[in-house]
Amino acid sequence: MSHSSFETKVVHQKFDQKQVQNSKNTPIYQSTAFTFKDLDHLESYYEGGSPYLYSRERNPNTDELSQTIAQLEEAEAGVATSSGMSAILAGILAVASPGDHIVAADDVYGGTHKLLNSELKTFGIEVTMVPFADIDKVKNEIKSNTTLLYTESVSNPFLRVEDLGALVSLAKDNGLYTMVDNTFATPYLLQPFTKGIDLVVHSATKYIGGHSDVTSGVLVGGGELIQKATQKVVTLGANLSPFEAWLTQRGAKTLALRMKQQSHNAKELARALESNDHVHHVYYPEFVSERGNGAIVTIELSERVQVETFFKSLGWIKIAPTLAGVETTVSYPVRTSHRALSDQERENIGINDYVIRLSIGIEEASDIIEQFQAAISQSVN
Ligand SMILES: *Cc1c(COP(=O)(O)O)cnc(C)c1O
Repeated sequence: MSHSSFETKVVHQKFDQKQVQNSKNTPIYQSTAFTFKDLDHLESYYEGGSPYLYSRERNPNTDELSQTIAQLEEAEAGVATSSGMSAILAGILAVASPGDHIVAADDVYGGTHKLLNSELKTFGIEVTMVPFADIDKVKNEIKSNTTLLYTESVSNPFLRVEDLGALVSLAKDNGLYTMVDNTFATPYLLQPFTKGIDLVVHSATKYIGGHSDVTSGVLVGGGELIQKATQKVVTLGANLSPFEAWLTQRGAKTLALRMKQQSHNAKELARALESNDHVHHVYYPEFVSERGNGAIVTIELSERVQVETFFKSLGWIKIAPTLAGVETTVSYPVRTSHRALSDQERENIGINDYVIRLSIGIEEASDIIEQFQAAISQSVN
């Protein structure tokens, strides 16, 4: 049958996509669904013969990304999601049901804090938050309905490094699952799954994507748990779009190079700022891995520094309420991530008007150091 009318021709292209081969990069499968040549072919999907049916359920670009990160984390499987937040939710719902209880670190990312303390209640899941630096405090909160211990491998903004070994043994002794947000460390520095953590989650918006141009998330772990989490992602519609998956995958290719340079620069900067008289305290981990200690440096300026002037004196370094891009940026927890807290609540966790979080980029270390030193000296009273 020939397509004679314009109206029919315009939607039935002659182009046979199967003739396009050997593409160096994975094409973007910007398609909501996949077609079938006959009913036997359709039936083969349900028998496991053909992997793709509907993109909310599965798409080659999201598969490529989740498999890449699972491989980097040395985990069995993974699922890509619309954001770090939805990856966290999917992971939690894979191991916790109404009536269950979670013990979580009290210094988790602000969005996670909100998810755990407000949204999970509507799912009938109860959460207790404690400082994970003291493993006995974690142990004391475990109840008969506790199913999960939740924390971050490197915390924000003070970069506390979690003792994953201690956490895994506590969980094993009590028959609990463990879930770790590995966003700050990335699999370049730490692979929590290899240490026995059940679920590892990433805001791929940060270092995995790396270029501040895509919001996405990835959850990795054992095959069975990831299958459960994937069901949640599919049903909640928390799937990642093909283009966003493709962008994240493209960014991930340079993860090792970026983390290597950014960790090196951060270490050099932390060292330089430690000997600056107008920096009261430098928070930078002593040891995350043999590969480096990460690319975030948090500083507390001395009270002689005019903070408003400091932010105006940063030259090419921009203020941005995020982290992990290739450019060095700064963020101000008092006015962004911890804005909703009272002065007293902020004081309790050590955040005051002089605390600034620096996300170090891939520039030359000496340029970064020079710019921060100049900004500090220009803003001293
Ligand atoms: C940004 C971030 C998240 C949330 O990720 P989104 O991609 O913004 O949803 C979760 N955890 C950590 C540690 C983060 O930095």
